[in-house]
Amino acid sequence: MAPLKEQTIFRNAKLADGSLVDLTVTEGRFGAIVPAQKMADLAGIDLGIVDLAIVDLGGQLVVPAFVEGHIHLDTSFYGDAWRPHIPCTNGFDVRERVAFQTRNLAAAAPMAERAKNQLELCIGHGSLAMRSHVMVDGSVGLTHLETILTVREQYRDLIDIQLVAFPQSGILASPGTPELLEEALKLGCDLIGGLDPASFDRDVKGHLDVVFGLAQRHGAGVDIHLHDGGTSGLFQVEEIAARTRALGMQGNVAVSHAYGLGDIPTDALLKAGEMLAACGIAIMTNAPGNHAFPPVAALREAGVTVFSGSDNIRDSWWPYGDGDMLSRANMIGYRSGFYEDHELAAAFDMVTHAGAKALGLAGYGLAVGASADFVTLSAEHVPEAVVAVPKARTVYRRGRAVAKDGKMLTH
Ligand SMILES: [Zn+2]
Repeated sequence: MAPLKEQTIFRNAKLADGSLVDLTVTEGRFGAIVPAQKMADLAGIDLGIVDLAIVDLGGQLVVPAFVEGHIHLDTSFYGDAWRPHIPCTNGFDVRERVAFQTRNLAAAAPMAERAKNQLELCIGHGSLAMRSHVMVDGSVGLTHLETILTVREQYRDLIDIQLVAFPQSGILASPGTPELLEEALKLGCDLIGGLDPASFDRDVKGHLDVVFGLAQRHGAGVDIHLHDGGTSGLFQVEEIAARTRALGMQGNVAVSHAYGLGDIPTDALLKAGEMLAACGIAIMTNAPGNHAFPPVAALREAGVTVFSGSDNIRDSWWPYGDGDMLSRANMIGYRSGFYEDHELAAAFDMVTHAGAKALGLAGYGLAVGASADFVTLSAEHVPEAVVAVPKARTVYRRGRAVAKDGKMLTH
């Protein structure tokens, strides 16, 4: 006899449009989404072959699981001893911060333990897909990646993780890094990263030649850290766009931070927005506290996919971060001056659907056939969830509850 199929009926789920529905989840995927109380007949058809469970959600808001689009699993000290932030000596300086990080990491708890702490923080708050940058360069070789690959494997039933080979010490400035990045892609990295081609390596062409050359050879995506501001930042975005277009990589390239888009004149920004949309380049911003950052509304208006991530949590760059992408949507809305419902919904979109698009996730969302990864929230609707950030929530992975109110239920 064939094994019983598992099916769960979730009754009385409120969707973003305010409708009350029942959802079936069969073998981890949404099977049907119908108006509440209309499910009885439909479920009866399968009763002979399913192991059936029924969960009444009591009218709670149901949203797709959050997408954590930019994090560093290898360098956080979350759950480890508190490390007071060390200020740069003369304003923000990436090289100086990397040096502080090296010193801090030498005295940190084992990386696997810290990465797991951070992962469970994120899953607990409802993120079930993630893109993590992992240091791969001449200073640490492949050691960080080897650890994070193992952790990814251990958590694969709980969260989908994309890894970016991230040259934290530069590509040209750190001997052996191009070869290490190539090896990282062979070992299982999904994307190739980069870091301030102009200010760090001081060679935009040389830096991007390595990044896009590797991407092309390995069919990998690209996600580049770009802190450089003003016209230098814009110039590098244009160079990244030109290569993306030339290689036909539309939809597979992201620029993280892109601070420069936040401090250029409006006409230049609109032109950049059109170019980014045409090239299918996504922009990641975490609404950092003391920097100009890409204007979310204007870029979205231009058709750019704008997504978000926690970036640093309790690490050598800053002490903030709680692993909650709903809280991140709140921060983005707050810093962007979003007050209207459609604006709050846009901030929410950045941590859900836009994030899924930027990461190229297949089968995402509350739709028949999609993976049943969702979160229930005690909120009337999405705009209220963004401003109130209710911490009471249950996180479902493939239809099974895995976390409640910030705490893991399994593992
Ligand atoms: Zn980062």
